[in-house]
Amino acid sequence: MRPLPDAQRDVLAAMRPLPVEAISLWNALGLALAKDVVAPHDVPPFANSAMDGYAVRADDVGDLPVELDVIEDVPAGHVADGRVEPGTAIKIMTGAPLPSGADTVVRVEDTEPGEGKVMILAAEPRANVRRAGGDVEAGTVVFEAGTRLTPPHLGSLATIGVAAPEVHRRPRVAILSTGDEVVPPDTAELGPGMIRDANRPLLTGLLDELGAEVIDLGIVGDDADALTSSLVRGAEVADVVATSGGVSMGEYDLVKAVLAELGDVEFWKVAMQPAKPFAFGHLGETPLFGLPGNPVSVMVAFEQFLRPALLKMMGSRFLFRPRVPAVAGERFVTDPAKTVFLRVIVAVEDGRWVARSAGSQASNVLSAAAAADAFAVIPVGVDVVDRGDPVTLEMFRWPENRREGAP
Ligand code: AMP
Ligand code: MG
Repeated sequence: MRPLPDAQRDVLAAMRPLPVEAISLWNALGLALAKDVVAPHDVPPFANSAMDGYAVRADDVGDLPVELDVIEDVPAGHVADGRVEPGTAIKIMTGAPLPSGADTVVRVEDTEPGEGKVMILAAEPRANVRRAGGDVEAGTVVFEAGTRLTPPHLGSLATIGVAAPEVHRRPRVAILSTGDEVVPPDTAELGPGMIRDANRPLLTGLLDELGAEVIDLGIVGDDADALTSSLVRGAEVADVVATSGGVSMGEYDLVKAVLAELGDVEFWKVAMQPAKPFAFGHLGETPLFGLPGNPVSVMVAFEQFLRPALLKMMGSRFLFRPRVPAVAGERFVTDPAKTVFLRVIVAVEDGRWVARSAGSQASNVLSAAAAADAFAVIPVGVDVVDRGDPVTLEMFRWPENRREGAP
């Protein structure tokens, strides 16, 4: 058996970042910046008011209360004509440029309006002014190459006028389920011995979440010719091909035979559970991931191999999920020869994350994986984790607050 870190290292070493293209902010979520983004100008671009109120001189509001002449009114999007001279104020709305002469904004709540005048009741010198460049300074690196764009990144790039950032393009992943027993999910009546295809919907969801594009090659029965033509097509149209099933020890594990014939593919037994049998290699230039057949194994193999590989192709600086210290909420018994990924539900109890089994840990039981938030990662060499022992979680989903109502 190959240690998991070895197998992961070999897979990642074979991955190259995809070509760079400019993509509009409307479609860039989850993609990674191909180069550092430098701000061409300050954000905010001009000093402006943080409050609805009155722009004044700090020198005029040292002794309170004081009455000032209101010489103008500036809403957001407009620039004051005049200048705040001693003894005067300009009425200002949030976001309007700070008029020249002013260095302070007094909140409207701290004033009393009069006819052409305002009474200042309370004030803090230089308060309520947003300085130019207070968010982003011109000429600085705002976001580094390799940053994956989240919603606030998209908004922030818009503020500096980067409407189409340069990113590594979205990977196209061809997926294919194998097996004579596998029928489409919309099959109403299952024939004898048949099961519905769980792996393509599962993989499609995982790929969607990552920001990859799915090319669905459907289901291929255990037939060498059909499999060959699908794989050839996948290698042509996609950046990565991912199959499920047919890579273990069975007599009908045709994928193995066809891949060995067609490409430069290695078959590994990785010291992990689930997802021990795993094929990796190339069909021509196209990386090929031969995932196991059992759906939970597909999920685990995706998380440990395909996801980091795709993130590398996407140019992401970081390739792995966050790991979080927690305690075991029950006793877990695992195989000490393997890195074991238990599907667990996590909850905060007494200020700590506690992990409990999400259900059956068999590799075909996808319903338990659906209930889970995380893998409890039990390292090689450990066979028992007792209740209360420390355990490491790999979070693949942060749970919603399971209490009813607001926190
Ligand atoms: P295999 O490695 O092809 O022998 O598959 C291992 C197990 O996973 C068998 O029980 C298969 O029936 C099952 N399996 C394979 N492909 C799928 C699929 N697409 N959806 C659900 N189960 C599958
Ligand atoms: Mg099969």
